[in-house]
Amino acid sequence: MDNTTDFVTGDIWTMLPATTRGQWNGVGGMDHSGGNGAGPGAETGTEYDVLIIGARVAGASLALLLGQQGHRVLLVDRDTFPSDTLSTHYVGGPGIAALQHLGVLADLEAVGFRRLVRNRTWVEDCLFEAPAGPADAYGLAPRRDALDSLLIRHARERGGVAFQARTHAEGLCEADGRVVGAYLRGADGARRLVRARVVVGADGKYSKVAEWVKAERYEAVPAMRPAYYGYFHGFTPLPEPALEILFVRNQIGFVFPMRPDEDCLALEFQPEDFEAFRVDPLATFLERFGRLPGMAARLAGARLEGKLLGTRGIENRFHKPYGPGWALAGDAGYLKDPATGTGIGDALTQAFPLAAALDAALRGGDWETNLAAYQRTRDAALLPMYRFTLDATQLRDAPPESLAWLRAATMSPHVCRQVMYWLPSVLATGLPPHLAPMVRTLAGYLGAPADVVPPVVMPPARA
Ligand SMILES: Cc1cc2nc3c(=O)[nH]c(=O)nc-3n(C[C@H](O)[C@H](O)[C@H](O)COP(=O)(O)OP(=O)(O)OC[C@H]3O[C@@H](n4cnc5c(N)ncnc54)[C@H](O)[C@@H]3O)c2cc1C
Repeated sequence: MDNTTDFVTGDIWTMLPATTRGQWNGVGGMDHSGGNGAGPGAETGTEYDVLIIGARVAGASLALLLGQQGHRVLLVDRDTFPSDTLSTHYVGGPGIAALQHLGVLADLEAVGFRRLVRNRTWVEDCLFEAPAGPADAYGLAPRRDALDSLLIRHARERGGVAFQARTHAEGLCEADGRVVGAYLRGADGARRLVRARVVVGADGKYSKVAEWVKAERYEAVPAMRPAYYGYFHGFTPLPEPALEILFVRNQIGFVFPMRPDEDCLALEFQPEDFEAFRVDPLATFLERFGRLPGMAARLAGARLEGKLLGTRGIENRFHKPYGPGWALAGDAGYLKDPATGTGIGDALTQAFPLAAALDAALRGGDWETNLAAYQRTRDAALLPMYRFTLDATQLRDAPPESLAWLRAATMSPHVCRQVMYWLPSVLATGLPPHLAPMVRTLAGYLGAPADVVPPVVMPPARA
């Protein structure tokens, strides 16, 4: 039997945007003792096939899949649940499809999140609006306390996964050059060694697991844009719920409609503005958001729930996602600026090929062959969106002369219609090379032919 895994599923969402030894230092790191009494924690036997550290979108979805494949899985997180985490909320087509495949979408929608059926984009004072995808496609902006807890519940109930909250991983245990377990400090304050055939770091953007195993980094780019966001009630909605993105004055404004009368509003801005923002985040946020098109009126009756949340920026990098006895999932393995809103979807979609690779290896397949294939699949699927995101984040606003062209092309509805008519051939030949593949992928998603057919030439106007 061939135990390697072929990850080609044909599903659009799987394709879209698509140990070294350390020293145990008593706080975190690598213990070489193999847990044979010399390590700094009480030992229990080899209890699990897979220990997953981090129980949000990456960890819980992987746990659910591995549990359903019959593996003994322990999922731990230092947080209590339900709880929020630093993140806004957009989940687009591929993420929605992944939630459907995971069997949690219906329960998530039952919580009452509005379907986002349209995408609305402002570039300065020009407005563009389109459907969220092919017919019936939609996005959601689920609150993380609901989404993450639901994934954990399904992992426990449908995957038979053991789950421990308020459990902090403090270090890894290694034997014969392989990770064989982790030291966990539980809610009772006691530390113990849990042994597993594989330890997965799904522990997010500051992954300690990646640090402990010294995972190789590549394609790394420092953080670029700070961001603040908050939850508002009383914000005037659009007639049809839409993801709204506003590129205005070197800032990006976002509206993520959640449940009725619950909207997440966010602003990404430039690093040089960060200190000014920190002096009075709420006043600065309201003042800047209110200057975005149409927003002053829509904000008039709005009130903030709790505090604004912010970050100086998110770094961008890939980690090699595996090594002897360990693997990385979600942000721990692949991290980028949130401007394009795909981190949640990426974590969910990548759980499938990673679970398939781990399943094959746990059933006797070659570890290196299966996990190397996973890395290739992951990188092929995610690199185009990664580079697109870096470009999009670095881009300053369009210069006045470009805006003049944009306004001219969209100012007259009749010119606008004709521009749309000619657009396919213009896009096919006129786009810069790094943008063309992204547009082609999205066009394919919407049903356009692979080769762009120039529009039929219109008859010349009669003299
Ligand atoms: C400001 C901001 C806005 C964003 N907006 C969007 C968006 O609109 N759409 C989108 O798709 N993505 C967005 N993202 C990205 C998205 O949040 C992440 O890609 C996603 O949360 C990654 O999920 P994860 O499960 O890998 O990690 P996380 O959600 O970070 O979960 C990691 C978990 O690991 C646990 N953990 C960490 N260390 C330990 C330890 N030592 N022991 C035990 N547990 C541990 C943590 O408690 C945490 O619960 C945004 C991110 C930011 C910062």
